[in-house]
Amino acid sequence: MINPFLNAQKQLEEVGQIMNLASDKLEILKNPQSILEVNIPVKMDNGEVKLFKGFRSQHNNALGPYKGGIRFHPGVTKEEVMALSMWMSWKCSVAGIPFGGGKGGVIVDPKSLSEAELEQLSRGYVKAAANVIGANLDVPAPDVGTNGKVMALMQDEYSKIKCSAGTICKNNEIMASFTGKPVNSGGSLGREQATGRGGVFILEELTKKLGRENKDLKIAVQGIGNVGYWFAKLAQQAGFKIIAISDSKGGVKGELSDIEKIKEFKEETGSVLGFPNTEKISNEELLELEVDILVPAALENVITVKNADKIKTKIIMEMANGPITPEADEILNKKGILVVPDILANCGGVTVSFFEWDQNMKEEKWDEETINKKLKKIVTDSFAQIWQIAQEKKLSLRLAAYVLAIDKITSRM
Ligand code: NAD
Repeated sequence: MINPFLNAQKQLEEVGQIMNLASDKLEILKNPQSILEVNIPVKMDNGEVKLFKGFRSQHNNALGPYKGGIRFHPGVTKEEVMALSMWMSWKCSVAGIPFGGGKGGVIVDPKSLSEAELEQLSRGYVKAAANVIGANLDVPAPDVGTNGKVMALMQDEYSKIKCSAGTICKNNEIMASFTGKPVNSGGSLGREQATGRGGVFILEELTKKLGRENKDLKIAVQGIGNVGYWFAKLAQQAGFKIIAISDSKGGVKGELSDIEKIKEFKEETGSVLGFPNTEKISNEELLELEVDILVPAALENVITVKNADKIKTKIIMEMANGPITPEADEILNKKGILVVPDILANCGGVTVSFFEWDQNMKEEKWDEETINKKLKKIVTDSFAQIWQIAQEKKLSLRLAAYVLAIDKITSRM
């Protein structure tokens, strides 16, 4: 089985060598600063109490409070959460926002829980982690299997714990302790779309560098969750052609002229499969399609040594975290496939999470136009810096992004 944490460490070691990173700094960065492991009790609807294992990994806070999502998924492991927290450190650094890297997870299939059970689990996670999270300490957000509603529940529980009788609690800090909240619960406009939107801004910069026209480029997207859906929809609006999209049950291929309709179809039927006038394909087949841009936007480790050789795209936008294993990355590099690494491609999400935190802390509300403008500036500046490092040092975009990220962090350690 692939261990994402060993992969994350391997990537770091490789960059450490390129940068001549001091061994003490490398040693510190190779592991999270702390990791919390908890058992969360939930009284199930049948009256039985069931324990769910949860984690919060805090990798590095040299640049600011830890920041990272909480994942509810049956495949969550401690190693996965640790790897994701390390990638968050690099991502926040790449985006130039004042946060460090954190990540949380619970081993659970959220679809198997009733609403009442899910609420208890969400509140239980906060009860267990309340002492290590907070606006100036560690700021969680949604990830796979969690959403704005879960964040609102968590934030409410956090407020109950921190503002219990006799405790001084500052409203703005309580509000800023979670991001990705619904807009009517202190969330930011544009957060839901931010990861996909940031990815599309970066892709447009890349196509300009390559002298290509958006309308000539075909895209396949794996996953139609928050990230996949918004990426596909906004890429289509920017003129790109979406020719395949999938969910956990499989994918569809064809002229996908209305992504919103496909999402509605999935919401009604439970899957994109069977969408009118499309051909059914498996998730494996989707990854191997002859397209210009492949967008893994679901889970990690979907491109491995087993299928890297069969990948026929010219560009990969890593909208998911860690979709390519380091061994597969080497194969793709040799094949001349240009990979836009996750820590750059999907940094739009955490960037607007930072805007949400900033608005909450300052008790302000920004309009969506301002948010999208600020987002565009941040992600396109990051892309430009990474592109320049890659050209100057003759590195892949991934290694260049790591060099930029680690350099900024170590200068503050
Ligand atoms: P989500 O839960 O909204 O969507 C996940 C999607 O993946 C769903 O469409 C699901 O059907 C699909 N999926 C699940 N298993 C699959 C499989 N085996 N094969 C193909 N598809 C499968 O999650 P999300 O928020 O869209 O996150 C997706 C990825 O993006 C994750 O790697 C996450 O860490 C990363 N990410 C998310 C954000 C964010 O703002 N939500 C930000 C940065 C990175």
